[in-house]
Amino acid sequence: MDITDLATRIQNGERRALARAITLVESGRADHRAQAVELLEQLAKTQRQALRIGLSGTPGVGKSTFIEAFGMMLTGQGLRVAVLAVDPSSARSGGSILGDKTRMERLSRDPNAFIRPSPSQSALGGVARRTRESIALCEAAGFDVVLIETVGVGQSETMVAEMSDLFILLLAPAGGDELQGVKRGIMEMADIILVNKADGDLKATATRTCADYAGALRLLRKRPYDPPEFPKAMTVSAVEEHGLAEAWAEMRALSDWRREQGHFDARRAEQARHWFEEEVRQGLLARLHQDPQTRAQMRALGEGVARGEVSIGAATRDILVALGAA
Ligand code: GDP
Repeated sequence: MDITDLATRIQNGERRALARAITLVESGRADHRAQAVELLEQLAKTQRQALRIGLSGTPGVGKSTFIEAFGMMLTGQGLRVAVLAVDPSSARSGGSILGDKTRMERLSRDPNAFIRPSPSQSALGGVARRTRESIALCEAAGFDVVLIETVGVGQSETMVAEMSDLFILLLAPAGGDELQGVKRGIMEMADIILVNKADGDLKATATRTCADYAGALRLLRKRPYDPPEFPKAMTVSAVEEHGLAEAWAEMRALSDWRREQGHFDARRAEQARHWFEEEVRQGLLARLHQDPQTRAQMRALGEGVARGEVSIGAATRDILVALGAA
C-alpha cells in the first residue's frame, strides 16, 4: 500500500480513501499498525481541525434520529460532518450501533457526510485507539464536525469525553425518580444535556425533565473556565427538528469561548498527553502478553508469589527487567 498516495487522497476528501484508512487503523496486524502510524504521521502535518463532539445516550433515547437531523442541518449550512460510533458492547451482542444500514439513511446519502459504524471489538483500549485515530483521519480529510456517538456504558462515555471538545448527553423525558439513574460522573462530564422527544404528548414531561436536570447541573461543581450558564440543559425534538439550531448555537458559543480563553487548545494538549501515556501503557501490556517467555515467567512468578516464596516487589522487578522496562 502506498501510504503517501493514501494520505494525499484523504486530504483531497476522497471518502473511499478515508474508509480504507480507518480499516487500516482498526487492524490488529503488526504491518498494518506500522502503516497506520506512518499515515497518521504524514497527515498530522495538515493541521486541520474539526469540532469534536461526543454524544452519549442510552439505546432508544433517539441518538440516531438526532444525529441524522442534526447532521443534515449542518451539511445544509455547507459543513462537512463525520459520524463515528463507539460501542464496546458490540462484540458481545454481535450487533453494533450504526451497524444496520437503515439508520441515518438520509445522512448516509449526503455527499457532505461520512458515517462509520462501530467495528466489533472487545477491548476498550483497542476501541479508544481506533476512535482517536479515526478522528484524526476525519480531521485530515477536512471535516468540520466529527460526531462521536456512544451508548450509555460508563467507561465508553469517559473515553469519548476524553477525546471530544464538547460532550453532549442525550436524555429522554422521564419521571423525577429516573433523574437519579443518570450517574453523577456522567452528568459531570456533560457540557450540554439535551432532553429529546420534546414533542406531542411528551412535550410537557420533557420540559419538566429539562428543568430537573438544569437544577441538578446547578448543584454540580462549577467550572471556572466556562461561562457561568454552562453546563446547561435544553429540550429538543429530533423528529420534529426543533431546538437543533439552538443546540448548535450553544455548542458554538461554548467552543468559541473556550478558544478565546485558550482552554480549547489546552484541553486538546492535555488529551494528547493522556492518550500518549495510555498508548505506552497499552503497548507495554501488549508486549507482556505477546512474549511467550515473559508470559511463562509471569506464570511461574505468580505461583511463587501465591506460595509466599517470592515477594510481589521482587517478582514485579524481575518481570520489568525481562521486558526491558526497568
Ligand atoms: P437510539 O437507539 O438512541 O439511536 O434511538 P433512535 O434514534 O433509534 O430512536 C429510538 C426511538 O425513539 C425511535 O422509535 C424514534 O422514532 C424515537 N424518537 C427519536 N427521536 C424522537 C423525538 O424527537 N420525538 C419522538 N417522539 N420520538 C423520537
